[in-house]
Amino acid sequence: MSKIKIFSLGGLNEVGKNCYVVDVDDNIFIFDCGLKYAHESLYGIDYIIPSFEFLVKNKKRIKGLFLTHGHNENMGAVADLVRDIPELKIYASKFTKYMLLEDGVSEKNIIEIKANKAIKFQELSVFPINVSHSTPDSLMYVLNTKDGAICYTGDFIIDPMMHGSYSMDLGKIAYVGKQKVLATLCESVFSEKSGHTSPNHRLTEFFKDTLNHHDERIIFLVQDNNIYTIQDIFNGAANRHRKVIVMGKKLQNLINMSIKEGYLNIPNNILGDLSDIDTKGSILLVAEDRETPYASISKILNNYDKFIKLKATDTVVFAVQKHDSNEKILVKIENELAMCGCNIVSLPKEKVLSLHASAEDLMLMIKLLNPKYYIPVKGDYRYMVGNADLAQNIGISKDNILLKQNGEIIEFVDGNQVECFDKVPVNDILIDGKSNDDVGSLVIKDREMLSENGIVLISATISRREKVLLVGPVVTTRGFIYVKDSQEMIEEIKRICEIIIERNITKEYVEYTKIKNEIREELGKYLYRETECKPMIIAVVQEV
Ligand SMILES: [Zn+2]
Repeated sequence: MSKIKIFSLGGLNEVGKNCYVVDVDDNIFIFDCGLKYAHESLYGIDYIIPSFEFLVKNKKRIKGLFLTHGHNENMGAVADLVRDIPELKIYASKFTKYMLLEDGVSEKNIIEIKANKAIKFQELSVFPINVSHSTPDSLMYVLNTKDGAICYTGDFIIDPMMHGSYSMDLGKIAYVGKQKVLATLCESVFSEKSGHTSPNHRLTEFFKDTLNHHDERIIFLVQDNNIYTIQDIFNGAANRHRKVIVMGKKLQNLINMSIKEGYLNIPNNILGDLSDIDTKGSILLVAEDRETPYASISKILNNYDKFIKLKATDTVVFAVQKHDSNEKILVKIENELAMCGCNIVSLPKEKVLSLHASAEDLMLMIKLLNPKYYIPVKGDYRYMVGNADLAQNIGISKDNILLKQNGEIIEFVDGNQVECFDKVPVNDILIDGKSNDDVGSLVIKDREMLSENGIVLISATISRREKVLLVGPVVTTRGFIYVKDSQEMIEEIKRICEIIIERNITKEYVEYTKIKNEIREELGKYLYRETECKPMIIAVVQEV
């Protein structure tokens, strides 16, 4: 009989940052460790990860981190966690391992696992099962305890046509359900979509059609690690005598590895090289990532791409998932492409690129696993509620469906839920990719201020010996439009600063701090009065 705690450090009521913790009699199992993409309002922030405070404090009790698949929302924070816990053991399938290595995670931390082979931890064990998703080798996990199994589905769809490294072991899932399942944590992203997700993810015919109708050059924009869609593009391009050219080192490496390891099956002689780039009918594969949406096509549009020069006869196919947060950028890009004379092809509305479980997929999974307690995870809260409703529809009692927020603990004693009011500390850690450190809200505030109001820089030079103003004050502005056109305003700014500087210089001493503070304050007031803007004001005063 056991004491089990389940909570998430991220992933509930949000998209990404998935990190679920199961604590069985003081043995900690972590499932997934993902990042969340920053939205536009977080200036210059590349991504967000969960706070690992709890895990670092309890690192001695951690048995391992178990990854479901190679999407950044599920594994994108692993490198950050390893930095905090260098001895961390990470269990991952072969494809996920490749993605981890690409992310800079050391091989010595990774234990490659295969589905259907239990990983034993004395009386406990973790059992991986194949599921179908858009990356190969995706897994779900079953953690076996004395009080029953705890299942975590990861992302999945149910499509019997998917095979090989995309196949799903429904038989095994049903078998687990026939044993005792204490709790199931199941994704919610597509819970509001009716029916099965399949066959809306099958795109071969759509790509074939697109190729039939456009015999000039085609540029396919693809999600950087959506191997399933890339396979569909190759399928569509088979037997056409058109060359496919893979652009960019990262995508080339991924595709080469995928061909070598059998994740991608491509027709013979279909791959071209840079010499085919301007050939009529060539097919270019260009990767976009979620971190900088549409950056690659923007680069091409602005003529910054080394190899691809856009032609009016080009067709651009958007095989990347649309997101609300970057819709504005997409509209701008489509307009610019249209102005260049290019054809634009978007996916039909019903088609999907992210393979998540829709209502019927979810209900089948719940039915097969037949858990005593059901815990919707992954996705905005309304989708978690939608997921909960589905579980209730098929007979799980409302009291046993547990809707939580990050950090809230679900506790089971001897297989029954007991009330638990404790909370684990959770937080968003903002990462600016270049520093790999938490940036913090003050920096974001500065960046917000800069982006909205610009900057006014006052510089002046004072002679060390005579203590008189030698040069300046010089006024420089960036992004603060009002001053640029107004000589009058510049003169007034200079006058204000000059008065402040003069009154803070004595024969022996210059009050630098006072000068800086007073300039910031008085100039700030003046500029606000005149322009209703609050630019960032920086005063630089030096002695020579
Ligand atoms: Zn995924």
